[in-house]
Amino acid sequence: MVLKRASGAAIAFLIGMLGMLVLIPPAWAGEDFVLGGARVKAGSAASGFLAVPAGRDGAGTQIPYTIIHGTKPGKTLALVAGVHAYEYPPILSLYRLKAKLDPAALRGTVIMVHIANLPSFQKRTIYYGPGDWKNLNRVFPGDPAGTTSQRIAAVLNEEVVKRADVLIDMHCGDGNEALIPYTYWMISGDERFDASTRDLALAFGLPHIIIDDTRGSDLKDSKYLGNTAILQGKAAITTEAGFLGRTDEESVGLNVRGVLSVLRHLGMIDGRPEPVSDPVWIDKFEVVYSKWSGLFTPRAEMGYFVRAGQIIGTVTDYLGAWKEDVRAPFTGILLYVIGTPPCNEGEPLFEVGRVKEK
Ligand SMILES: [Zn+2]
Repeated sequence: MVLKRASGAAIAFLIGMLGMLVLIPPAWAGEDFVLGGARVKAGSAASGFLAVPAGRDGAGTQIPYTIIHGTKPGKTLALVAGVHAYEYPPILSLYRLKAKLDPAALRGTVIMVHIANLPSFQKRTIYYGPGDWKNLNRVFPGDPAGTTSQRIAAVLNEEVVKRADVLIDMHCGDGNEALIPYTYWMISGDERFDASTRDLALAFGLPHIIIDDTRGSDLKDSKYLGNTAILQGKAAITTEAGFLGRTDEESVGLNVRGVLSVLRHLGMIDGRPEPVSDPVWIDKFEVVYSKWSGLFTPRAEMGYFVRAGQIIGTVTDYLGAWKEDVRAPFTGILLYVIGTPPCNEGEPLFEVGRVKEK
């Protein structure tokens, strides 16, 4: 018996050595990760499309995604780009990260949503989906029986938010927005939970952090993806890095570095996180909306420090006649300002943030 057992061990050892020689990946006792019909083995990655069924306002659509399923247990991090699909640096950063992240070296699982709003990407629309003219980031948690944007939101909530422990909703200035990099730290009121999302905001590394206590607490009308995650107990931040429909290297890099730093912060990959060490905290912010439809000419640039009452831009009508000088509501930083001429009644012109004193 002893001899038999020993020879069994020897055979197992030989098989193990042989496995290493032909580079068979080590088996992991972890479970497969199943999403949208795809079954992903531990230590591997898979890409595919989540189906958004057809509805009363027309055909269905798809949501391109990648799962990177690590060899060891850890958190499930959802990275969602393209909720606003004219916001390109977050979208581009995920393709780079997909190529960079090695499932064999990952603890836990990364869910990447490459382009949440594919109809908007295809039609190059800002703010709104081309079919129902709804803003995807105002219709969460969505409705499977609703219009296209609502159905996309419902699929994202079921398949991505509910599967995640941590979520980053990755935005930037839309195609018409000149915007400086910042992160929304959404306050839930639960001190311990908020400390964890504060650490996430710091880990992502952007130089300004908005302390945002304005999001609603009703999950049925959560509106924003990040808020939807938080109301279901998932740590979430909303990031903004990039502007004006550009694909500049600096903005793509901010998104790549931010995600890598969060992965390190969560212990999902090796290495030290690179948190922002002394951010500018914004404790009050206000979006100023246009009262007119016409043209907007900015007189201040993104990132400018502006005083209460200062003229930020001028609205003219379609014939070129002056309508209004639009002024800053309080003293602070111009977080973003519309950088292309069209302005429509009820749509944003700029956002000012007040700098929190120590
Ligand atoms: Zn956005």
